[in-house]
Parts: sequence; structure tokens; C-alpha cells
Amino acid sequence: MSGDFSVALPSHITAQPEIIMVDRDVNSVKCNGGNLAMGHPVVYYSFDGRDQVKCLYCDRIFIKDMR
Ligand SMILES: [Zn+2]
Repeated sequence: MSGDFSVALPSHITAQPEIIMVDRDVNSVKCNGGNLAMGHPVVYYSFDGRDQVKCLYCDRIFIKDMR
């Protein structure tokens, strides 16, 4: 028991993937990163039978609201 328990949390891995709920009737989503600082070229993703898609640029996850 030294009492020395310094905890170093790396600050560069704190980014959480953002989850975007979309209407269940939507078949494709558009993503541009959301804002200028984190932005990326506009891309479109088709659900293509799935209930969620993930943006390859910003890791946002689009989930169909199936309620
Ligand atoms: Zn994106």
C-alpha cells in the first residue's frame, strides 16, 4: 500500500460516437460531420435492409427508430 495511485487518463480517446435516431421510413441518411470543426464531405448511406449504419468518416451511428 504505497498510496501512490496516480491515474492517467488519455485525453485523446474521449470522443464518443454520436447516435442519430432516424425515422423508420427513412431508407438513406446524409452525413457531413455535423459542424465545420468536425465536418467531412457530404456522404449518403443506405440502410439497405439493416436498421443501422455507421458513418465511415465521423463514426456517427444512424439507427432507425422502430417504435
Ligand atoms: Zn459523418
